[in-house]
Amino acid sequence: TSSVPQIAATDFTADFAAMKQLTDLAAQGKGMIGVLLPDTTTSTRYVQYDAPYLTKAFEAAGLTSGDFKIDNANGSAATMQTQAEADINAGASVLLVDPLDPGSGAAIESKAEAAGVKVIDYDRLVTGGPADRYYVSFDNVEVGKLIGQGAVDCISAWKVSNPNVLVMDGDPSDNNAKLFAEGYNGVLDPKFKDGTFTKVGEPAGTWTPSVAATTFEQQLTANPAMNAVVTPNDDNANAVIAVLKKNGTPAKKFPTTGQDASLPGLQNILTGYQCGTVYKPIYLEAQAAAALAIYLRAGQEPPASLVADTTKDTVLNKDIKSVYTKPIWVTPENMADTVVKDGAVKVAGLCTGA
Ligand code: BGC
Repeated sequence: TSSVPQIAATDFTADFAAMKQLTDLAAQGKGMIGVLLPDTTTSTRYVQYDAPYLTKAFEAAGLTSGDFKIDNANGSAATMQTQAEADINAGASVLLVDPLDPGSGAAIESKAEAAGVKVIDYDRLVTGGPADRYYVSFDNVEVGKLIGQGAVDCISAWKVSNPNVLVMDGDPSDNNAKLFAEGYNGVLDPKFKDGTFTKVGEPAGTWTPSVAATTFEQQLTANPAMNAVVTPNDDNANAVIAVLKKNGTPAKKFPTTGQDASLPGLQNILTGYQCGTVYKPIYLEAQAAAALAIYLRAGQEPPASLVADTTKDTVLNKDIKSVYTKPIWVTPENMADTVVKDGAVKVAGLCTGA
């Protein structure tokens, strides 16, 4: 109807002003919005970006702390399950699920659906979830392509001769990890095929930095010619860099990549240990997710201008209505114009780590 605001995915900006269009809708809605984030212990993005931006987005639309709840499962699917059940029992009307793995995510979502609770997959697709759910994320194959191209450019800029590249994937139970790999392998495979680069290996992936450090050290011992790493995560890159520093490797000698524009990642880029990072302006993802939740909570169909994309759920063999926001490759050259300009980090913080 004409009284329902037709917000578009392109309306969202760093100042959260678009969320004000949803104030009336937010006031009409009933029940709590439960947000289930996967971990705080390994990846820094959920604490640095997701939780504060989601809070800001809900509050910009006029919701107050009783209207939403943000939980973090600290890497445990069982914890997320318990948090989801608590939300459902507390009268949640919408759940945002960023799952540890699709199986546990789908179990949560089918419970929610049975209780009449609407569900949104947040950042990671819950393959096999309810058919009428929504998905908010970045174009994750594009994220992977940025990482692959960033590695290629950096290997050339740092004049790495005979590139011997270790490919370190994310956790295989995260649907995003597959998409990232599809993106960077698409860029790297032609280089491996034509012999410009040598692929040292692609060991089992992880999102746990301590596991990444052990894997990297073992691979480096087995392949002393290794001189570059491709990884889709700043915290894993930070673990790799700690090993390199321990070994006395100088700056700009051993390219690594990353993702998330974490504070340690940005610092590693400035000190010449990391080539770049994929900065995903999570304020866009958070506003899109909060807006979707506000429509669903008010019993309204989200406008086509908001859910303009689709994602294939390969388990259901169905297209899921989606919102994609845009990732950016960040290096020392554009750091001021991106993460700093957006207020994601402060210059003083980059220098001191605060
Ligand atoms: C997210 C990444 C994050 C990774 C590890 C992925 O699903 O999209 O931003 O680095 O999980 O938490």
